[in-house]
Amino acid sequence: MWGPMSFTENLGKAETLLARYDGAPILNHIGGEDRAAASGATFETISPIDLSVIGTAARGDATDIDAAAKAAHDAFPAWRDMDGAKRRAILHKIADGIVARAEEIALLECVDTGQALRFMSKAALRGAENFRFFADKAPYARDGQSLFANNQMNVTSRRPIGPVGVITPWNTPFMLSTWKIAPALAAGCTVVHKPAELSPVTARILMEIAAEAGLPPGVWNLVNGLGEEAGRALTEHPMIKAIAFVGESATGKLIMKQGADTLKRVHFELGGKNPVVVFADADLERAADAAAFMIYSLNGERCTSSSRVLVEVSVHDDFTAILADKAKRLKIGHPLDPDTVVGPLIHPEHEAKVLSYFDIARDEGVTIAAGGEKVTAGDFGAGCYVAPTLFTGARQSMRIAQEEIFGPVLTAIPFADEEEALSLANDVAYGLAGYLWTGDVTRAMRFSDNMDAGMIWVNSENVRHLPTPFGGTKESGIGRDGGDWSFDFYMETRNVAFATAPRAVPKLGL
Ligand code: NAD
Repeated sequence: MWGPMSFTENLGKAETLLARYDGAPILNHIGGEDRAAASGATFETISPIDLSVIGTAARGDATDIDAAAKAAHDAFPAWRDMDGAKRRAILHKIADGIVARAEEIALLECVDTGQALRFMSKAALRGAENFRFFADKAPYARDGQSLFANNQMNVTSRRPIGPVGVITPWNTPFMLSTWKIAPALAAGCTVVHKPAELSPVTARILMEIAAEAGLPPGVWNLVNGLGEEAGRALTEHPMIKAIAFVGESATGKLIMKQGADTLKRVHFELGGKNPVVVFADADLERAADAAAFMIYSLNGERCTSSSRVLVEVSVHDDFTAILADKAKRLKIGHPLDPDTVVGPLIHPEHEAKVLSYFDIARDEGVTIAAGGEKVTAGDFGAGCYVAPTLFTGARQSMRIAQEEIFGPVLTAIPFADEEEALSLANDVAYGLAGYLWTGDVTRAMRFSDNMDAGMIWVNSENVRHLPTPFGGTKESGIGRDGGDWSFDFYMETRNVAFATAPRAVPKLGL
């Protein structure tokens, strides 16, 4: 594991790593072979730091997806039937490979996505943890139950569903790819991965690590390309039995339609508009730190970000003043500077979307207590830098209170009592995460029981424990990941009923 480095050292290392992409496109990997797109097409990936071109990637389409799906189909029986202990060993080797290349992964992820190194170094290592966690479950993935009835014993077991498609977004793309692919492989499924076109760099490194770890050809295939082309073809392919998708709610709806003809099983981790509910009896300093962390870390490009803060009216002004002060003091900077907290947003188009909400907020008449503008000073003008922002005086009906902005933008709304707080918390289309701050344990239990969200943290920021279920309600998703829940998605449960006594079988006719 590497130690802390200076900004200059990080820049130098990143420059050396980036030389790899000069004139050498990021290739697909199908059936154990590196391949350009069948059409020969490529697309560029740029760095949001200064919009410079990092390199090009193969622009796969339906032809490449077809080849990858066939490779995954052919590799499936042997991978399914491999002893779980052997699968466990290979997945641990992948985790070892991630740790060995964690510095490279973290540095390149920062340059490709604009995320700050202080967070990406942890995300790379979390990718290894994801592999280790599911590796250890591989030998037991097929376990089931025995269910007794009179004169009958039922035995359930699970079987991997087959080749699956994994479609990932550009926010923390490395970590999220491991989070979806590790359980699929542990379950015994083979995989076709279509990473986000805005961040293809580390998906390729992950693929290389897997191949070097001894994963048989065809078990894990990588096809880069655009959502409408490669992504769509993957969701429509008849050999692909299920789609694990992380991305926008609107894309999830499209995928459901695209997969309907082949009756695809889908698992969706989608958008959020997650509330932090702060009661006056809470530890306000800790609550403010947690709210700031959950919206301003990872540039606010995080599905579980706390993008709404609902504050009891008696402490609203003091609390939002603390938050505004924190937002103004965050260090905006180059992602490779170890002191940077907020880096550039992923792409100029996404930046334009986030900036458009500043105009919407002004039109809606809210107070911009911090930020609310693009950062253009010095070198920042060349990239997608947006100031950490706090809106106060907002109302629930406003677009800034309802829509996922997916940037470092927090909307504060006061509430009078518990009933109003609950109504505000639940009155959005999404239901991914919720955060609750109170000193009253009975209220914490009552309130969390009524909050409409898949994951709720009480008196805490988002701290993940891998065996717990991860996923959302309403427009935030379908299904749960984590622990055994991941296997429920990637496997079919079967029941075999054994007669334990020669009971009379109904005779038809004579
Ligand atoms: P996106 O939906 O635009 O893209 C995600 C992936 O889907 C990309 O690989 C893209 O190429 C692909 N895609 C696009 N159109 C497709 C189509 N028609 N068929 C098949 N694939 C298609 O999402 P994004 O902008 O990359 O990511 C940000 C979104 O992801 C946010 O809404 C965020 O909340 C969500 N997200 C959710 C979670 C969660 O766990 N709930 C986690 C991370 C991100």
